[in-house]
Amino acid sequence: MGRSARREIPPSRPSFVACSEAGCRERAVVDQPYAGAHPCVAHFKASVVERARRELHRQAPRLKGGTLAVGVSGGKDSGVALTLVHRLLGQRRGIRLVAVTVDEGIEGYRSETLVEARRLCGSLGVEHVVRRFEEEVGSTTDEAARRLPGEIPCSFCGVWRRKVLNRAASDLGAVRLAMGFNLDDLAQTVLMNLARGEPGRLGQMSPHLEPQEGLVPRIAPLAMIPEREVYLYARLEGIPFDHAVCPHASRAGRNVFREVLWQLEEAVPGTRHALLRTREKLIPLLQEEGAIGSARPCAVCGEPSSNGTCRACAYRQALASVAPRSFISATGSGPA
Ligand code: SF4
Ligand SMILES: [Zn+2]
Ligand SMILES: [Zn+2]
Repeated sequence: MGRSARREIPPSRPSFVACSEAGCRERAVVDQPYAGAHPCVAHFKASVVERARRELHRQAPRLKGGTLAVGVSGGKDSGVALTLVHRLLGQRRGIRLVAVTVDEGIEGYRSETLVEARRLCGSLGVEHVVRRFEEEVGSTTDEAARRLPGEIPCSFCGVWRRKVLNRAASDLGAVRLAMGFNLDDLAQTVLMNLARGEPGRLGQMSPHLEPQEGLVPRIAPLAMIPEREVYLYARLEGIPFDHAVCPHASRAGRNVFREVLWQLEEAVPGTRHALLRTREKLIPLLQEEGAIGSARPCAVCGEPSSNGTCRACAYRQALASVAPRSFISATGSGPA
């Protein structure tokens, strides 16, 4: 969400470099140092589809039918995720695709991206549902940012969005919730959790490797596709998306991890993939150690929580403590 567009544009090539695929004489369109490859447009597009196909199969192996919810923001990542899920699964009998957009109430940002989300869903013929923080949480992100100046907006915004998406997917009866997280996003999250001394969170992040009580299993079809390749694919396929950057994004705690990871990937290609593999190796060990806590119902809203009160309700309570009583209820009769 709200990422900087820096480094998304593939470097221009000073001279002709041929595609690295055996027998192909076409011009290379992108460098993939982590794979020692530089495919042409056709081979690049095919490899994106293949990576998404493999991840869908790996993350949702027994998906025979049912509703598949896809979180769609109007940005490039979720646009590519929806397009690929629609292409790979959308035509299967018994599968119903529903795109879900969360409107956090961010002036000059979400309304623009919502236009693109609608456009994409319309062009694919995918059902589209919009959920608004104002109704679901009782506050917009902009309003909460004004009232909680000591908090980084992404902290509560991200927590609330996950909750609203999960509730929407659950209301739709979805068997999976597909998200547009790319390789960079997921590797950053692994690094953040390790750097903050919270390895238990490796088990809670997407994609879900095990079912989690009260949560529609989240999958990430773009898990093996770097951010700049997602951007390139969206441009090559003409997928509509908005370039807007969230006005709160500059305060996001993950920005420093993004920078560090770029440097690591440049120095040691394959670092992002290695971080994801590390996560998958660590999870069984952490489970054995009891370091991945099981969820219990939040005392306020009843949804899964690792503490007595879930983080979404804790942020609502913090907001209620500084807001007029008529503005928000902290005690949970509201939508949370
Ligand atoms: S506040 Fe943060 S989490 Fe929310 S939309 Fe903006 S960048 Fe994303
Ligand atoms: Zn080629
Ligand atoms: Zn709660």
